[in-house]
Amino acid sequence: MENKHRIKQSTQCIWSGEQEYLMQHATQVPVVHSVSFGYPDAEYWQKVALGHEKGHIYSRNTNPTVEVFENKICQLEEAQAATSASTGMGIISSTLFALLKPGQRVVSVKDTYGGTNRIFTEFLPRINVDVTLCNTTDHDAIEAEVAKGCDLLYLETPTNPTIKIIDIERLSAAGERHGAVVVVDNTFATPINQQPLALGADIVLHSATKFLGGHADALGGAACGSRELIDKIYHYREINGATLDPMSAYLLLRGMKTLALRIERQNQNALEIAGFLQAHPKINQVFYPGLESHEGYKIAVRQMKGFGGMLSFDLKEDTFEAVAKVLSRLNWAHCAANLGAVETIVGPPATTSHVECTKEERKAMGIPEGLIRYSTGIEDVEDLIADLDQALG
Ligand SMILES: *Cc1c(COP(=O)(O)O)cnc(C)c1O
Repeated sequence: MENKHRIKQSTQCIWSGEQEYLMQHATQVPVVHSVSFGYPDAEYWQKVALGHEKGHIYSRNTNPTVEVFENKICQLEEAQAATSASTGMGIISSTLFALLKPGQRVVSVKDTYGGTNRIFTEFLPRINVDVTLCNTTDHDAIEAEVAKGCDLLYLETPTNPTIKIIDIERLSAAGERHGAVVVVDNTFATPINQQPLALGADIVLHSATKFLGGHADALGGAACGSRELIDKIYHYREINGATLDPMSAYLLLRGMKTLALRIERQNQNALEIAGFLQAHPKINQVFYPGLESHEGYKIAVRQMKGFGGMLSFDLKEDTFEAVAKVLSRLNWAHCAANLGAVETIVGPPATTSHVECTKEERKAMGIPEGLIRYSTGIEDVEDLIADLDQALG
């Protein structure tokens, strides 16, 4: 299906990975709800079951609609192979449990997604995997920990909720020097803004629930990388059973058709909103990697094609009550826990990403009580700015 001219990402979003699955001249991918696939020829059935012939056996393992979703994200990340799971956490846990054994060591950062952090602090120690979490932007400290011996280096950039930036190229090189598999959660950036594999990472993970699907109506997860590593993750997931549902795969695929368009708009909207908020008298600080004042700006310029739709800001009045008041006044934003949808979505860390922490713990992590996380939608930016202006006033 790939011809000599390499198609661009906005064209890949529409066309990639679909051709051989379009049945009976349909122009859209079918949703194949069948649990199993029948083979009257037992010899042929056995060949498919053993992987010697292409085909599907049972939908917990593989399914045509799910495979199209995997094909599309695989091509957008320019990977050799991809697999999927029922949620972002499904793919993250499958990756970690597929690749790690008792006695091994993981190095990661303090600012990973809350669920990922739980695996590091609660579940990996149970199977005797040692986990070291470094200060997120302390690249020297991360390199030093990797040099001490590391089997898997786990990164996430930009991070939640203060949008910190990690240098993927620098740390992937460190991982490679010391024989660690380098995994990057690329949920916030998407392949449109950042391609970790091209920067040296071994595996890219996504919560497809967010920007990839983009409509907050389906959960899913994906992993992309070498055939060898993806086969291991797939094998764990097929047995563990956190399989992506065909209907969800279809909704995610439909959302992905507009991924490049949406991200382009969200990049523009977020940059303008960040500029507006930075100049606003009620705002203390704006966290957005597209602002020159952001500590990760230089790295972001190097490794990202766009700065993304996620930003956060904290009010001069540093209280949860002040945040609640501003949120209740916004007309064009859902107050909700997810992100990356066509609608703008806002929330304070105290009710979303860091709900398990106390006020004091959040403060120690550098998360002010007056912080608001803002996931920019694709609305007209003038309306969003006017809405923020009246809510803050
Ligand atoms: C939401 C999210 C996840 C978890 O994804 P689910 O689909 O909710 O399981 C993982 N990583 C990041 C960065 C996220 O934002």
